[in-house]
Formats: sequence, C-alpha cells, structure tokens
Amino acid sequence: MQLTLRKVVGAGGKTTLVLLCFLNFIDDLPRAVRVLAPDIGNSLNVSDAVLAGVLGVGGVALAVGALPLAALADRYSRRKIIALASSFWAAAMVVAAFVVNIFQLFWTSTVIGFGQAYRIPLAGSLISDTYPVEGRARVFAVEALGRPLGLLCGPVIVGLIAAIAGGDEGWRWAILFLACPPLLAAVVAFSSTHVEEPARGQFEQAAGVEVTELEVSMRIAFARLRQIPTFRFLAAGLSVLGFALLSVPLQFNLLLEDKYALGALARGVVESLIWLPSLLAIPIAGRKIEKAVEASPHLLGRFMGVLLAAAGCLYLLAFPIKTIGLLVLLTGFAQALISAAFVAAPVIIALVAPYRIRAQAFAVIPVSVFLFGGFAGGVIAGQLSEVYNNRTALILLAPGLALLGGWLLWRGASHIGDDASAAIAELREEQTEVHKALSGEDVPLLQLRNLDVCYGSVQVLFDVELELAKGEVVALLGANGAGKTTLLRTISGLGVPHGGSIKLNGRTITYTEAETRFRLGIVQVRGGEGIFPGLSVKDNLRAAVLKSNMETEEYELKTAELIETFPVLGKRFNDLADDLSGGQQQMLALAMALIHDPEILLIDELSLGLAPAVVAELLAVIAELKAGGQTMLIVEQSLNVALEFADRAVFLEKGLIRYSGSAKNLAEHTDLARTVFFGGSNS
Ligand code: ATP
Repeated sequence: MQLTLRKVVGAGGKTTLVLLCFLNFIDDLPRAVRVLAPDIGNSLNVSDAVLAGVLGVGGVALAVGALPLAALADRYSRRKIIALASSFWAAAMVVAAFVVNIFQLFWTSTVIGFGQAYRIPLAGSLISDTYPVEGRARVFAVEALGRPLGLLCGPVIVGLIAAIAGGDEGWRWAILFLACPPLLAAVVAFSSTHVEEPARGQFEQAAGVEVTELEVSMRIAFARLRQIPTFRFLAAGLSVLGFALLSVPLQFNLLLEDKYALGALARGVVESLIWLPSLLAIPIAGRKIEKAVEASPHLLGRFMGVLLAAAGCLYLLAFPIKTIGLLVLLTGFAQALISAAFVAAPVIIALVAPYRIRAQAFAVIPVSVFLFGGFAGGVIAGQLSEVYNNRTALILLAPGLALLGGWLLWRGASHIGDDASAAIAELREEQTEVHKALSGEDVPLLQLRNLDVCYGSVQVLFDVELELAKGEVVALLGANGAGKTTLLRTISGLGVPHGGSIKLNGRTITYTEAETRFRLGIVQVRGGEGIFPGLSVKDNLRAAVLKSNMETEEYELKTAELIETFPVLGKRFNDLADDLSGGQQQMLALAMALIHDPEILLIDELSLGLAPAVVAELLAVIAELKAGGQTMLIVEQSLNVALEFADRAVFLEKGLIRYSGSAKNLAEHTDLARTVFFGGSNS
C-alpha cells in the first residue's frame, strides 16, 4: 500500500522539507529586483540592458558554484552548509543594498549567486536521504512548488517594499529586506533540532548500518557519473532545454514591452500569471511519477520526454498568436508541462547515481540548465532577435529545442532501469560486506566486486571478482592485452571503473583518488618503468619519499633496512640507476615501493625480460617479503615463475577471470595453462 504524503514527510521530519521548500521559494528573490530596474538604473546611472546583464551574472555564478558546493555536500554536514552559505547570501544582500556603482552591484550579484549555488544539489541529496523512497517523488514535488510560488510572489514582494519605502532609493530597502529570508533559513538550519543530518544512502542501505565514509574525489565522481548512460542523456537533454527555457522569459518580456507596450508592473503580473498553472501541474506530476517508478523506472524518462515535447508543440502554437490573452494562456500551459517534467529529473538522479556522489549528480541540473543552456542560449536568442525580432527568435529557438530535449530524454529512458539496478546491486553488495564485518567475520584486505573497466566505448575488464587476504601472495596471469595492467591501475586509482566496487579493509575506495589509496597503503611498482634512470640509486630512493613528509631519521632507518634486503643496492648506492642491470633496476623499483611500508604491493611484470639467474634472485626477495607477511598481487607472464611464489593464481583472459585458485592446479589445467604459455614470452 502506498504511504500517505503525511507519513512520508513524518518519517523524515517536516522541518527539513519546509526549509528546503522555503529556500526554493526565496531562490529567485535576488533576481526579482529586476522589477525595480528603472529605479536602480537611475540611481547607478546605467541602462536596463546593462542592469539585466549584471543581475544575470548571479545565475552564472549559481551554476559555477554548484559543482564545488555539491562536492562539499557529499562530504560534510549538509545542514551546516545550508547555514553557512545562506548567511553568506544574506550578508551579500546587505552589502548589495549599499552599492554605489554598477561594478559593486556586479560583484555582490556574483557573491549572492555563489551563496545560493548549494541549493539544488544539496536539496536533492538531502531529500533523497531524509525521506523514504516510496514517497520521494511527492516530496520532490512539494519542494518544487516553492519555485512557482516564489516567482509568483517575488516581484510583488519586492515592488511592495520599494513602494512602501518610497523615494528614489526605495529599492535599497527592498534589497535590504531580501537579506532576511536567507538569514532566517540560516538560523533554522543552524539551530533547529528538527533539521537532521541523515546518514548518506540510509534508505538504500540496511537501516542503522553505518558505512565508513572515505573522501570522494570530485574528479572521480564526475568520471563515474559520465559513465552512467542515463546521466549522459539527462545532462544533454537539460542543456538543450536550458537554451530554450532561459531565453524564453527574457525574450517574452521584451516581446510584451515592444509589441504590446506593457509597462514593468503589467509585465510582472503577466510573468506571475504564467507560473500559475505550474502550481497545479507540479503536485499532479509528483503522484504520476511515483506510480511510474513503481511500474517501471524507464517511464520516468518517457514522462519527461513527452511533457517537454508537448511543451515544444504548445510554444509553436503560442508564439505566432497575436492575441495577448491566448498567448499568455498557452505559454502558461507550456510552462506547467515543463515544471511537471522537471519533478522527474531529481527522482531519476536519485535512482541512478551512487549515493556517495549524489549531491554532485544533482549539480548537473544547474550546470546544464544555467551554464551550458542558459548562457549560450541567451546569447543566441539575443542575436536572433537583433537580426529578426523577439517573436521570430522565440519561434525559432524554443519549440525546436524543447522537442529536441524531450527526444533526448525519451532516448535516455531505456537506460534508467539498468542504471538503477546497477546502483542498487552496488549497494546490496556493500551491505552484505558491512554485515559480515559487523558480525565479526574476517574481511579480506582487498576486495574487487563486479569490476567493469572501459577505455572509451571498449570494455576491457568484465565483472572481475577478486579478493586478497592479509599476507596472501597472488599471481595475476594472462596473455598480452588480457587486462592485467588495467586491473592494477584500477586498483591503484589510476582508472575509474565503469561499474563495480573496490574495497580496502572493508572500506569502499572506488571513488577515491590514487593519492588517497597510496596513503592507505596501496603501492604499485610499474612494470619496467619504476625508476628514474638519470638519478643515482640514492637519489631514486630520495625521490620515492619526496612527497610523503617522511622524517629524515625514518628515511635513513628504512634505507638501511632496504640495503639489508637488497645488498647490491648498498654496493651501488651512488651509481646511476641507468647503469644497473635489469634485475638490479627491478630491485631498486621494489625498494622504492617498500620504503612506504605498503599494505598491499602491486607489482606489474615481475620477471619480464630478466635472465633466469636474476629471476631467482628476485624470487628470493619475494619469498623474504612473503615470510614477513607482505600482501602482494604480482602480474607475471610465466606460470613457472608464478608457481614459485604464489599462494594463489588468477588467470585473466580477454578481461574475464577464467581461473582463480591454487597455482599448482592451474599448472595441471592444461588447456588454460597452454594459453598462459602461449601468451607468455619467457616461460
Ligand atoms: P600487457 O601484458 O601487454 O601489458 P595486459 O594484460 O596488461 O597486457 P592491458 O595493458 O591492461 O593488458 O590492456 C588490456 C586491453 O586494453 C588491451 O586490449 C589494450 O590494447 C587496451 N588498452 C590498454 N590501455 C589502453 C588505453 N590507454 N586506451 C585504450 N585501450 C587501452
């Protein structure tokens, strides 16, 4: 049975939703001061056009700031971010009330934009984590209602205060007053005990299970998001729509002024009227979307696609109409369809984005709509209206782009089901591991689950599952091009997997940077390239610790230990690394990795191209490390060599694990072993 909205909201608490809805309501207020444009223009001695441009800068700052603030929202308390950013926004409004020239207004407008930039990504992520999945669409709809309400009331509020204050400088009082709502939001977020910071992904995970959070890198988060097909279509569709959506209000306003001779007040009233039908459409959309998710998630994309295409058709009908009443009515209906379609966007994002990077996923909305679409769309619409006129610019841009955006979202819909399942599978698997850890079961040191890795559109690793227990030594075998190096690079953080997860000691490190993994103890020796040939042995060891804050004393102690393990390096301490033999160079590369006391040592190509006597020497070192409990994953092309050191062998063929088990058994497995031999060059 479907939960009632009251129960859904009750489960997460009313205050959070009221606060988010209020933030949406006040979001456009800083730009609503455009109704006071003539007064501000007179005071600051600038034209309407310059003023519109300066106020528009806030929209760009809002989109640019969304990415870094979303990254913060994925890491830190969202409640505190609301409190801090809203205070910032309020403070900038106060300053804006006292500006004396257009440059000061430009800067304050930019700062206000940054102060607001957190809202869309943070609201999406907070709603997803605060309210149960069953009612999410309806909660998103309630939050979305804040916008048309704000657009409806904003210009009136601003105009009213300026009128009450009166005089040429009345606009300053209006701006000063507009500092109050964000300040109120900041106070509520900061002090209310009812605005809670929910655990990230709590509804996707088993209730009450805490997963240790690790730093999520912004670069990796976006690399990961780009790999999700639904997300790519959504970003493309929203960018195209941004072209249409953001140029419509401005051109429409100009049309009302030029062709219908409406003054500022009348235009404000028309603008508000256009948002009226949205107030009806948004709640209906919330209910419909929820039913669509239950039936099949791909219907969400279809829903968005159809509504946007229908809005495009309405625009096509509306803009050539000369009768103002009908023109406003049809434009209002088109806006209602777009508002309804937009309720589905956060629901889709919440479904397909991994919860750890959800706020960053939500940042796609402002970035696509405002930055790519809005900015570029505004320029093109301006050009078209110069060459032709406002009406032609609207007819040429809006219907076609709304149709194209709708088509892109319709196309992307077919991926939503798979992408949502993949996100859920990733979480389920994580849950199982967390439960294992909680119940005291041994967690392997390294775990790879369902790892898929692609270079562009070519997949090279498929569903790789691999575990390494502490102290275990595993040989990774396979022919050239099987994907061994790719696997090591992905574990080290040098590549972002397309799907699946990587864990170290039970903590997910799939979205962490290579530097973080290195600090956690994953150290890789690159095959044949692990040293600086132009430096001496001593300087190579120094270079290895250059960026690691290692104290001199510790460095000297470790170097002494390493020279004990590799006496030959001691003998040739001041010689150029280039003058060392192949085996000695490999030892130097190992020493440069071991100086960091790795938790796991990854070695790419241990014995490639080395003489048997040198290989024997290296094997003795590996045996010594193994006896000391060092965990190692070693890429090796020779089965014979692997048999010497490995507890276990994993055989990779064309990106698939074909064998995982004792190395001896693989030797007996003649068909596989033969492939290994054929692939190997020095067996
Ligand atoms: P080798 O022993 O030859 O290094 P390998 O088992 O380590 O082989 P990988 O180097 O991981 O295999 O390569 C796996 C596949 O990915 C190969 O088909 C290779 O051509 C391809 N590949 C590797 N690196 C890239 C890259 N940067 N861009 C595109 N394709 C790549």
